Amino acid sequence: MTNRKPLKIAIASGKGGTGKTTLSTNLAAFIADQEEVALVDLDVEEPNSGLFFNGELFHEEENLKMIPKWNESKCTLCGICQKVCNFHAVIQLGPSIIVFPELCHSCYACSELCPVDALPMVSKKIGVLRDFKLNKLHFVESRLDIGEEQAVSTISKTKKYAEKNYGNAHITLFDSPPGTSCPVMEATKDADFVMLVTEPTPFGLHDLSLAVETMRALKKPFGVVVNRDGIGNNAVVEYCEKENIHLMARIPNSRKIAELYSSGKLIYREIPAVKMALQGILDYCLETVEGERK
Ligand code: SF4
Ligand code: SF4
Repeated sequence: MTNRKPLKIAIASGKGGTGKTTLSTNLAAFIADQEEVALVDLDVEEPNSGLFFNGELFHEEENLKMIPKWNESKCTLCGICQKVCNFHAVIQLGPSIIVFPELCHSCYACSELCPVDALPMVSKKIGVLRDFKLNKLHFVESRLDIGEEQAVSTISKTKKYAEKNYGNAHITLFDSPPGTSCPVMEATKDADFVMLVTEPTPFGLHDLSLAVETMRALKKPFGVVVNRDGIGNNAVVEYCEKENIHLMARIPNSRKIAELYSSGKLIYREIPAVKMALQGILDYCLETVEGERK
C-alpha cells in the first residue's frame, strides 16, 4: 500500500452540520494508525477538525494579503484608481482616497495604474496557518480573522503549504468548506476523489444533488456517505441508486456516536462498525483512483 502514488481525497458536503468533520477526523486518525497522512482543514472560516487531535504545534505563520496604501503627499486626485477597481475597494471621497481592505482582491490594478505611485501595495494580516503533528498524522489548518473574506486565496495558500511540506504523504485529506460555491471549488479542484457527506433528510438530498452537479461539472470521481442513517427518509439512498452513485457507507444515527462526538472523541476507536465503514470508504477511494490512473 505504501508504494502507490500519493492520493488526495476531499471531504465535502452541500451544507454544514452533516458530519463532514467527524468523517474527516476519524478517517485521518484511522489511516494514521497504519501510515502517514495529512489532514488539511480548508473550512477556513470555521476550522474545527483540530478539536479532535491533541497534536504538537510545530509551525505557525500569518496569512497575509496585499492591499494598496494611500500616500496622500503624492496623490494628485486624478481618480484613476477608483475607475479601475472592479470591486469598489478604493474610492475617492472629496480630497481623500479611501481603501476598503475587506473588498480588495489584491489585483494590483490601482497600484500599478496610479501615475504617481501613490498607492503602493503593503501586506495585511488576515489570519493564521498552524501545523500540528501527532505520530503519523500531520494536521494543517488556516483560520481567517473575523470579518475577513479571503476564503479562496487562504484555501489556495493552505493547500500549497500542505503540498510543499506533506506532498509525499501517502494520503492527504482536505476537509472542505460546506456548500457549492467558490471556496468548495478551490478546496476540491486538486483532489483525486471527493467524498460527499450527507444526511437522509429532504434538506440533505437537496444539498447533495447540488454537490453532485458540482462534482460532475468538475469531472471528479466521487462517492456518498450517509451520516445519521435512520433519521429522515430513504430518498437519499433512492437518489443515489437512480443516479448510479456509489453509496460508500451509512453511518448510523446513534446516541453513543453523538456523545463521543460532543466529548471530542474519535468514534471509530469505540464503534467497530464505524471502523469497518472507514476501511470500506478508503478501499473504494483507492480502487477508484487506481482505476482512473490506469
Ligand atoms: S490613481 Fe493615484 S494619483 Fe490618482 S487618485 Fe488614485 S492614488 Fe491619487
Ligand atoms: S488592488 Fe485591485 S481590488 Fe484592491 S483596491 Fe486596488 S484595484 Fe481594487
